[in-house]
Amino acid sequence: MRASVKTMTLRNDFHGTEVRLRPRPGGTISAATHRRARRALCPHEGCRCFSSSASGEGVLPLLHAQPIYDGQSSRVVAYWLPEEV
Ligand SMILES: [Zn+2]
Repeated sequence: MRASVKTMTLRNDFHGTEVRLRPRPGGTISAATHRRARRALCPHEGCRCFSSSASGEGVLPLLHAQPIYDGQSSRVVAYWLPEEV
């Protein structure tokens, strides 16, 4: 198995914001990192830029992130980021 540890740069063209993430081997990020990335790309409460094409392709990995649940509490503990979307 090949572990990819590379930095991903996500970009929101609508706000001109950018955030750099370093997913763990396997391509996951913690729920806290996911929250931080969302806020870095769009700090505006209630903003719908993520569902608009104006935000561009740089936000797609975040939009397509798959939640990973904790088996016991069913809380989201991490997200898996697809490399290709
Ligand atoms: Zn926004």
